[in-house]
Amino acid sequence: MNTTDVENYPGYPKGILGPEMMEDFRLQAERFGTDIRFGIATKVDFSVSPKKVWIDGEKLIEADSVILATGAEAKWLGLPSEQRLNGSGVSACAVCDGFFYRNSEVAIVGAGDTACEEAIYLSKLCTTVHMVVRRGEMRASKIMQDRVLKTPNIKVYWNSETDEVLGETVVEAVRLKNNQTGELTEIPVKGFFVAIGHQPNSGVFKDYITTDDQGYVTTVPGTAKTNVEGVFACGDLQDKIYRQAVTAAGTGCMAALESERWLSEQEG
Ligand code: NDP
Repeated sequence: MNTTDVENYPGYPKGILGPEMMEDFRLQAERFGTDIRFGIATKVDFSVSPKKVWIDGEKLIEADSVILATGAEAKWLGLPSEQRLNGSGVSACAVCDGFFYRNSEVAIVGAGDTACEEAIYLSKLCTTVHMVVRRGEMRASKIMQDRVLKTPNIKVYWNSETDEVLGETVVEAVRLKNNQTGELTEIPVKGFFVAIGHQPNSGVFKDYITTDDQGYVTTVPGTAKTNVEGVFACGDLQDKIYRQAVTAAGTGCMAALESERWLSEQEG
């Protein structure tokens, strides 16, 4: 829902807008009788059978099996200009949006494995990638750092923070501040990528469902099973590596099939 053009989902040779793709998904699911209701899951109880999910703090839904698909949210810097230009040059996904900045200069913020991977990806499309690192070292694995440092068209700005993203209606430049000297530098760029991590939306399940130390739901490898019988998880909620719509759809299919099998076993 939160992205503009989606160019990397199979079946859309001309690409599609994120909200339009969601509408297509909704219509397709409804054609097979899916009863779709809207609301926020505010509390759950997975210790009982049937399992309980409270919606918007009041309505209770009971179900024998539950599929968790609440996704993950990109972390943002919190600058008003970053928010204003989101979707107009500001993005949190180089793999989704890098294509739009072919043969242009872009900037990317972050110093973890994601930032390194995305900087390398962008370096193959863009003329120069300006990589903004807030400390004097990177958090990423050594191999990823080495790859970044060996790529000639990635320029790293150490000890630097984003002071402002500049542009009226689209991104035109970024102003960096060296946090040791206070020096300001303005770099003309068309794309501004934020790669400072993601936050999985798993908080509401935390009393029942096992997660890793970053909050990603732990599934049994090769399955969508969680630690609770009959509760399955799919998509970015349990995937910190691939994070694409197509991989989320694939694990969604796994969760649906496993849930159906589990329900038949209970009946049997
Ligand atoms: P990480 O949490 O590992 O890294 C986030 C990076 O963003 C850090 O360098 C951090 O800086 C920086 N950062 C955070 N907040 C700000 C801010 N406000 N301003 C500027 N910089 C900021 O997240 P990743 O998404 O990179 O990785 C998540 C996990 O997924 C990791 O375990 C990673 O190893 C894994 N992963 C593995 C891949 C692979 O193996 N190929 C690919 C992608 C991810 P600082 O270091 O100063 O805190």
